This record gives sequence, C-alpha cells and structure tokens, in this order.
Amino acid sequence: MELVNLKDATEVVSFSQAVKQGLGRNQGLFFPKAIPALADVDALLAMPFQQRSVEILNALIGDELGREAVEKLVTNAFQFTAPLAHVKDNVYSLELFHGPTLAFKDFGARFLAQCLAHLTGEGEPITILTATSGDTGAAVAHAFHGLSNINVVILYPKGMVSPLQEKQFSTLGDNILTVEVDGPFDDCQALVKQAFDDKEVREQLHLNSANSINIARLLAQVCYYFEALAQLPAEDRAKAVISVPSGNFGNLAAAMIAKTMGLPIKRFVASTNANDTVPRYLLSGLWEPKKTVATMSNAMDISSPNNWPRIEAMIEQGIVDKALLSAESVDEDYTQIGVKQLNELGYLSEPHAAVAYKALKRQLADDEIGIFLGTAHPAKFKETVENILGTPVALPKALADVANKDVLSDALTADFGKLKEYMFTKLG
Ligand SMILES: *Cc1c(COP(=O)(O)O)cnc(C)c1O
Repeated sequence: MELVNLKDATEVVSFSQAVKQGLGRNQGLFFPKAIPALADVDALLAMPFQQRSVEILNALIGDELGREAVEKLVTNAFQFTAPLAHVKDNVYSLELFHGPTLAFKDFGARFLAQCLAHLTGEGEPITILTATSGDTGAAVAHAFHGLSNINVVILYPKGMVSPLQEKQFSTLGDNILTVEVDGPFDDCQALVKQAFDDKEVREQLHLNSANSINIARLLAQVCYYFEALAQLPAEDRAKAVISVPSGNFGNLAAAMIAKTMGLPIKRFVASTNANDTVPRYLLSGLWEPKKTVATMSNAMDISSPNNWPRIEAMIEQGIVDKALLSAESVDEDYTQIGVKQLNELGYLSEPHAAVAYKALKRQLADDEIGIFLGTAHPAKFKETVENILGTPVALPKALADVANKDVLSDALTADFGKLKEYMFTKLG
C-alpha cells in the first residue's frame, strides 16, 4: 500500500511508515494513493465480521504485512460485535459501542495498537504519549494494555475529567501510566508537544502519538460499514443512507472509503451539532470555522475537523461524488428531542446518536433505508441522558466493575522538566 501526504505529494510512504509516523511533513495527512475495488461484495457480505474484515484490510494494505499478520491483527483487535438494531420502520442504528470502553473509538484504537505492536516487534520499546480530556484516553489505554514493548503515558487535567471517565483509563496499571496534571487540558497538550519537540525524549523513548489521524484507525473503521449492510436484507442494501455523527470526520471518511471499495451505500449524511463548519461549507463553499461551542454531544465539539482534508481529497479526485454527501446541523433542543423520541420508540440512546438520528429524519425518503451510527453507549453520557429522560440509566457491567477499582495515577505539576524526569525514571 502506498500513501501520499495530502500536503506534499512528493512524500509517498508505505502503510508501516504511515502508521509509525502518524502525520507527514507539514502536518499533512496520509491518504491511500489508490483505493482497491473488491471483487465480489455480495460474497464478502455473506462472511462473518472478522473473516470479512481480514479480506477488506488485506485488500487495502496489500502484501506489505502478509495475510497471516493481518489475520492476527484483526483477530486481536475486533473481539466484539457491531449489531444493527431496528429502531422503527426504515430506520436502524449501527451500535458501535460494544467494545471494552463502550465507544466506536475502540475499533480504531485497538487496530492501531495491534499494528504498532506488530511493527515494533522485538525491537526497542516505544512510548505512546497522549493527552486526554476524557474519552480518548480510555480507548487508548485499553487498546494498548498488556502489549509487550509498548508503554503508554496518558496526561489528563486534574479535576476536569469525570470520576468514572478517570477510572476507565487510570485503573489498568502494567504498561499504562496515567498522570494527573495540575492544570487545564491545554497544559496537558502543551506538555505532549514539548515532549515531541525534545530530541532526547523523542529518540530515547521512541515517542509515538497514536493519535486520531493515524491511517490505521481509519482503515479499521471501514470494516463496520460492511458489517452494517451485511445485516440488511440483500434487496435493501442499495437503499442505505448512512448518517454519521461527526466531529473530526474520520468516521465519515471511512464510510466513503467503504463505498469506494464497492459497498453499495446510496448516500451519506454528515451530522453535526452546533459546531457546523461542514454543513455551512457544503452550502456556501466557504470554509469558515467559528469558535467552538460546548454541547451535550461533546465528542463532536470541533470546529476545525482534522480529517476533512481526506474527504476533500476524495471529492476532488472524483472518487466520491459530492452530490452523495449532504449535511445537517442539529441544535441542542433537537438533540434532546431526538433522545426522547428514540426512548419513546423503546430505544435508549445518547446525544451523539440523537444528532445523527435527527439529521437522518430530516433527509430520509420513504423508499430509503436509514442507518444512524450509535457511537457511544448511553451510560457513557449517563447524567445528560438522565436529565433529558428523567429516568435512571443503568451502568453496564464494564463500567460498574471499574467504579470499584483504585485510581493508579501519579500527580505532576504542569512542568515539562518534571514530566521528563518522570518519564525517564519510569521508562528510561
Ligand atoms: C469521536 C466521537 C465522534 C466523532 O467522530 P469523528 O470520527 O471524530 O467524526 C462521535 N461520537 C462519539 C461518541 C465520539 O467519541
């Protein structure tokens, strides 16, 4: 597989390089030079999820890692299902929250972790350093927990992460170090940046960011769109409209790659909350990010989505027809209404999925089949959902268990010298 830096077409790298590097020169994103078409999509859709995912990722990655390795990565990463729940009439929810941290980011984070572990092999140990304001930390911690030759350091702002969120990433121990920083999230991010700018830390600890723009995450996410359509009756597949609750737009980019490979998705709805840079852009042609506003669907509180250049590239290269993409911004009132309406239909949901549901309802024709993505388990947004519905939301076992465990974090001031000393003491 060859990937091109979207900011500098002279930088062409292999899959392994792209995974290890994350970003290219000038902070450019890597994107496949060519997206392969799958030969017999119907036959693929008849396969079980893991087996089909091996075929998809093998077609994308090519012979670089070898089929056996891809099989191993998929088997280790995808150990949970993505059921398509019928909500009403022609509307379904693709539930992507059955992984260990109950959010769709488990798919991408776990596949990336497996790829990095495979590429690191028996060589020098690498260090994943990341800052979190809540949920990404959990997906990363769980994805890398117990992998040999990889250490993880997660920085988070003291007192700014909910107690349950904190327990999701700070109770694992082993190769997962968590550090409570005395300062806001911006300080945590600044510390990460300083670490990557420090040659000694970068080289001796073999730093890697494992961040959300890594191509491995995106490729992993392609697989569950196939799983969605596989669960529809064959005659309905070509009617499928997919509504993607979007923040950084990685999930939508993956959907478009799936279609390019031959999955018969009819069209896409990009659903955002009040942070509506993309819906405005599709109407006006002007890219004008505004100040980010806080909403209930806070994982989508992003006004400069970092995966958008990949979508733009697919449209510009004519890989995806722009007419197949529409967008909707759903405000806070309608998000709440969405959670309530879904609940009345007997479907307990949360704000991110509700945004996608409301956007889908505005767009869906009677002769189409609508699928919105359930990107997080309702219990992850327990308080918000309880406030909207006025009824208690039960914790699933994974969350209830973690509530009784001890936080294993170390505490540091927001001082790079201290962080450096800490990392060399623990990992050097
Ligand atoms: C990250 C996230 C999103 C947004 O996904 P993108 O790929 O960044 O567009 C939506 N919902 C939830 C719950 C998330 O955690």
